[in-house]
Amino acid sequence: MSAADDAQRYFDHAAEVMGLSANMRKLLSTPLREVRVQVAVEMDDGQVQTYIGYRIQHDKARGPMKGGLRFHPEVDTGEVFALASLMTWKTAVVNLPYGGAKGGIAIDPKKLSQGELERITRKFVDEIHDVIGPDKDIPAPDMGTNAQVMAWIMNQYEKYHGFSPACVTGKPVDLHGAEGREEATGRGVGIIARCLAGRLKKPITGMTVALQGFGNVGSFCARFLHEMGAKVVAVSDAFGGVRNRNGLNIPKLLEYSATNGKVSGFPESDEISNPELLALDVDILIPAALGGVLHKGNAADVRAKAIIEAANGPTTPEADEIFEKKEIIVVPDILANAGGVTVSYFEWVQNRQYFKWKLDQVREQLENVMSESFDRVWSVAEEKKVHLRTAAYILGIGRVGRATVTGGI
Ligand code: GLU
Repeated sequence: MSAADDAQRYFDHAAEVMGLSANMRKLLSTPLREVRVQVAVEMDDGQVQTYIGYRIQHDKARGPMKGGLRFHPEVDTGEVFALASLMTWKTAVVNLPYGGAKGGIAIDPKKLSQGELERITRKFVDEIHDVIGPDKDIPAPDMGTNAQVMAWIMNQYEKYHGFSPACVTGKPVDLHGAEGREEATGRGVGIIARCLAGRLKKPITGMTVALQGFGNVGSFCARFLHEMGAKVVAVSDAFGGVRNRNGLNIPKLLEYSATNGKVSGFPESDEISNPELLALDVDILIPAALGGVLHKGNAADVRAKAIIEAANGPTTPEADEIFEKKEIIVVPDILANAGGVTVSYFEWVQNRQYFKWKLDQVREQLENVMSESFDRVWSVAEEKKVHLRTAAYILGIGRVGRATVTGGI
């Protein structure tokens, strides 16, 4: 099963519960536009390399399309489609005035020089600048991209269209970026963990957490959970994992990983493999890396009481069914990791108003959006007697569907 099939299955399941007509289902799940371009650049060694760049614009019924740009060797049309559709439902779940899109290039940024990355990014913008823009489609960081890449996108876009800071979000704070954007996805996951603890009538203090992924999302997530008093007992990255039953010293681990480029070898911890981490007996398991990591081959081993999806698409539908049977609560990606796009929206609003918010204001508004959305999804789940994922899809699909019908086709 591909990522695209998985996304479609989640959509279809919610559409069925909602009693959506076949025509409406087809309309809402067909992407508006799929762009596939050649990205040819000269590498540092003088050789020309040709890559393929994708931008899939899924839906614009609720506003300009929005979503990240991924630089990763596994990027392909199917994955970008799946991620674009997730953005449509995600922006709707947290009620931002946006549609959904996603882009990507199949490259490994770790193997490229800064100059090569910059040339690839600028060339990609040369090829797609006409279909993106502040009122059309606004890219943002995702796996393998960061504020620097966003700065190149803005600069290149402006060569064609003039001053347009709102054409991309997740920019450096010194260059029209928003305070708090970098930490936003991780902070949002932390807020969701606290909301969930509240519903389970347990304090977040002392709750045990296993975290897969220590990139932008995972590392900020660990920091906020640690600050809230949760006990992060295991963390892993692409090279391996570390565990301490009494809780890892997260501030020290953040320093260690920044210096060494990996978590393994961290003092006061035992080594743990990724499969072992996913099977730990913890209160909360947080996949914060690649998609498809929880699948039918390992779902039965999961012993966590709850899963919070910080990554996009970490759970396959087969694994989701197993979790349902095991009564493991799953907070879905389209709610759990929506903090990133929410602060992207705040950045876009600031850019359009030429008015800068303070960090406290960003954090307070993020807190409001995340906790209100969590409550809303929880109520739909209770009302319709469905799990949180289906409830989130029902909320998102309902909003997009109503906008589509009201606007007219
Ligand atoms: N890439 C992030 C996501 O998957 C953020 C997207 C955005 O800020 O537009 O939600």
